[in-house]
Formats: sequence, C-alpha cells, structure tokens
Amino acid sequence: MRRILVAGNWKMNGDEAANAALVDGIVAGVPEGGQADLLVCPPFPYLSSVAVRLSGSAVMLGAQTVSEHPKGAFTGEVSAAMLGELGCRYVIVGHSERRALFGETSATVASKFSAALDADLTPILCVGETLDDREAGRTEAVIDEQLDAVLGQSGADGIRRAVIAYEPVWAIGTGKTATPEQAQDVHRHIRSRIAAHDAGIAAGVQILYGGSVKGDNAEGLFGMPDIDGGLIGGASLNADDFLAIAGAATRV
Ligand code: PEP
Repeated sequence: MRRILVAGNWKMNGDEAANAALVDGIVAGVPEGGQADLLVCPPFPYLSSVAVRLSGSAVMLGAQTVSEHPKGAFTGEVSAAMLGELGCRYVIVGHSERRALFGETSATVASKFSAALDADLTPILCVGETLDDREAGRTEAVIDEQLDAVLGQSGADGIRRAVIAYEPVWAIGTGKTATPEQAQDVHRHIRSRIAAHDAGIAAGVQILYGGSVKGDNAEGLFGMPDIDGGLIGGASLNADDFLAIAGAATRV
C-alpha cells in the first residue's frame, strides 16, 4: 500500500518571519491519523532555519534543486551532500521551471537525480507536457523522453528510491487543474512505463500530481488509483491551504 505524500514547493518565496509563521502553522495543524506524509521545500537560504522549526515534528524537509556535481569549482551551486547535512530528505529535480527557464535538459535532470541518490536523498522527479504537446497528442512521448533519461542513467532501481511528480506545465500556477481522469491516465502510463523494467518497483513508487492543487480538488485527485499525493506550489504558501490539501489526503 503506497502512502500519500503532500509536498510543498515554496519556489522563490518567503522570508524569515513569513516562513516561521507558515511552518508553525503547518506543524500545529498536521492532520491526525498519519495517512499522509508532509514535506516542505523552502529556498536554499532558509533550509537551516526551517529545519530547526520542524525539528520534533513529522513534517519533512526538502530542497528545490541540486547540483549534478558532488563538489568543486561550481560557483553558486549546492551539492546533494550539503542538502543532506542541512536535514533535507528529498530534493525536487526537473521542475518545469528549471527545464524552461534554466535550460535543464533531460540529461542534466538525470544527472541531478543520480547525484541525489548518491547522497541518500530521495529525488522527486518532475515530468510533464506543455499545452502544445498535449494538443499535438505528444503527452506520452514527452513523459517517456523525460522518464527514459532517468531510467537510462539510474535504472529501475533508481526509481525504487525516488518519487515521481506528474506536473502538466499548462496546469502549474494557472488555476487550471487536470481532471482526476486526465491525471490518472498519465499516472497509469508512467507506472506502466516503469513496469516494463520492473513491475514490483512500478507498483511501489509514489507518483504525485502537481498543477493548481487546492483544498477543494485534492480529494478527487488523490482518490484516483495511481495518484499518491501532490506537489503543491501556490497553495503551499499558506498553512490553512496546505493543511486543507493534507486533510483531503486523510479522507481517501
Ligand atoms: C509547482 O510549481 O510545482 C506547482 C504545482 O505549482 P501550483 O500548485 O501553483 O500550480
């Protein structure tokens, strides 16, 4: 039985005061019952202070990206080992904003994924199509290319130690959510693509949905058989909104 994971991607938002209020609000309101695991991914400069505020709570810490290199002359980069030392257990790789705005190719993302595994972090691999891709009937081909780059480098065994997030680019920050059925179709496809390598790993891997998830649409999404939680952007910046999504996870 796969657990539900609700992960907040804060992107480049927050400051010390706002983060303190957000984290304290989340920690105080973690739904009882333990059906869902909660994770927050603040910007790099705040990882330490958020880690301190989370200590003793069940809410986990992650980062939003990582260097593909282990160490050395890579000005401005942050290694997976550094993230581990700061208390991160997860790191997002291949978010569509990184792919579109910072030129990350599927090969780069695969290297970041592998670097995360090498440091015992759990990579959250984001995959997803643009609206043009969807309208041209290329959704599965795009997802396959993104997934295969990682499968080629880290194998199915790498996927066993990871989480996947299906994030249709057209649904991110737009208020347009994929319907539960649209999302389920792609999640099923992702699982079957992995099953071609290893059926057991495919059955066990968590696949999150991301793209304008809110308290009022989370339950329908999380109730689908291949959707195991959400990667949340905008709604992760407000404790009540984030907790409403976590609460939905306890009802499915
Ligand atoms: C995201 O950026 O990963 C995301 C899902 O954002 P939002 O929830 O705001 O659509």
